[in-house]
Amino acid sequence: MIPALVLIGIAWLGVGAVLGERFAKEKGIKPAVGFGLGALLGPFAIVMKQMKGEGKICPRCIKRIPVEARSCPNCAREQTMFG
Ligand SMILES: [Zn+2]
Repeated sequence: MIPALVLIGIAWLGVGAVLGERFAKEKGIKPAVGFGLGALLGPFAIVMKQMKGEGKICPRCIKRIPVEARSCPNCAREQTMFG
C-alpha cells in the first residue's frame, strides 16, 4: 500500500512540472527552467501564472484589466490587491 503523502507528492511534481513547462513556453523561458520551477512550486505555479498574466479580471464587470489598475477602466470599480 502506498502512503497518501507519496501520492500527493507525485501529483504535486506532475502538475507543477507540466504547468511550469507550459508557462516557460508562453513566456519564452527555457522549458527545462520552467519544468524545474514548476516541480518545486507545484500547484503554486497556477497562482504564479495568474499573477504574471496579462492583467487581471475585474470582479464586477468580468473584463480583463491591467494588473496595475487602481480602478476598472470599464466600470470604474475600485480595485484592491485581491481583486
Ligand atoms: Zn470593471
